Amino acid sequence: MSMKDNDYMCPKCKGHLNVGDYVVFATKTQRKHRGLIMMSPVVGEYKYLHHKKFQLGEGEMVEFECPICQADLTSDKSKDHAMIYMVEDEDHFEYELFFSKKAGKQSTYVVAHDNIETFGNDAIDFEELYYE
Ligand SMILES: [Zn+2]
Repeated sequence: MSMKDNDYMCPKCKGHLNVGDYVVFATKTQRKHRGLIMMSPVVGEYKYLHHKKFQLGEGEMVEFECPICQADLTSDKSKDHAMIYMVEDEDHFEYELFFSKKAGKQSTYVVAHDNIETFGNDAIDFEELYYE
């Protein structure tokens, strides 16, 4: 799966979240600081960019919002994860992409029907997300 050219979409407004080589989110930290975060579209790559004055504490819970419609992207399945749609470039197959809202926590899940792919050192069994 080449991920760089995939489309990433808000589940609420279906707006495109990817710009250039990044996926863009409006965020709010536990300390109520707001800022834009640009994440790598490569699943399992935990690099992100933000303004130098916007500080994220290690392990700090971050609220992710759609920068287009301001919807809270928190997953219905796990309050510790955000969920967006990922549409594959080649076959236009649609996945649900879950990622941890905690700064520095590496856990990502790509879900399509019964097929679940897990990425990141901190990922647990996807089923366990329901019980967090
Ligand atoms: Zn939206």
